[in-house]
Amino acid sequence: MKIQTPGLIIKETNIGENDKLLVILTRDHGIIRVFADGVRRMKSKNAAATSLLCYSDFVLYQNKDTYKLSSSTPIELFFDLRYNLEELSLAQYFCEMAMRLTPEEFEPTEILRLLLNSLYFLTNKTKPLNIVKAVTELKLISLAGFMPNLTGCAMCGEENAFRFSFSEGCLFCLECQNDAKDTTVLSPTVLAAMRHIVYSDFGKIYSFEIPEKDAEILSLVTEKYISVQSEYKFKTLDFYKSVKES
Ligand SMILES: [Zn+2]
Repeated sequence: MKIQTPGLIIKETNIGENDKLLVILTRDHGIIRVFADGVRRMKSKNAAATSLLCYSDFVLYQNKDTYKLSSSTPIELFFDLRYNLEELSLAQYFCEMAMRLTPEEFEPTEILRLLLNSLYFLTNKTKPLNIVKAVTELKLISLAGFMPNLTGCAMCGEENAFRFSFSEGCLFCLECQNDAKDTTVLSPTVLAAMRHIVYSDFGKIYSFEIPEKDAEILSLVTEKYISVQSEYKFKTLDFYKSVKES
């Protein structure tokens, strides 16, 4: 059966001399693995649209769970990301997050949209990297079914609640006694940013500005939340950090 869908390549593995196995986050078929024969040949007409981070329109042959590439047309290649190792490694972390966290049972339209937006902001450099990272982490984990409850204290409902529990994904006010472990006290600025990312309309999630110091803390909080909730250690995050430090 022949199918056609746009999709973002979130992983590529070379096979043999000329072929690749692609992992594609598609708009219509979830995450699929696609055998792409001959795409590493110089003359291949599919060479341009079949690399990591390419967003392309794919025509595929589907046989049960197996997909083979027929043709591909580039839509957005995010080419500039390949020139900056810090941005490239952060983009690869986004891809690993999507691969790990996209639920199999639902259409990943929103996750695809989030990733495309994030790659766009990485490419055009209009947002600090810490903000792009924090928005992607917190929105992705929310879309994956682990949305934190940031409305107010989980015990008394008080809106001015700043103690955030990573494992329970909720807030406690400073008065409420509880034995929640693994908590951190958020500044009003960081909490406001988190509420913005979780609750505002999709088109507006990037539209906020906070001082660099707060962005750094926000990024550490969202990073820890995603790792606690997913119970997973992302290798690409370690790599991004080592690039950032050097
Ligand atoms: Zn309370």
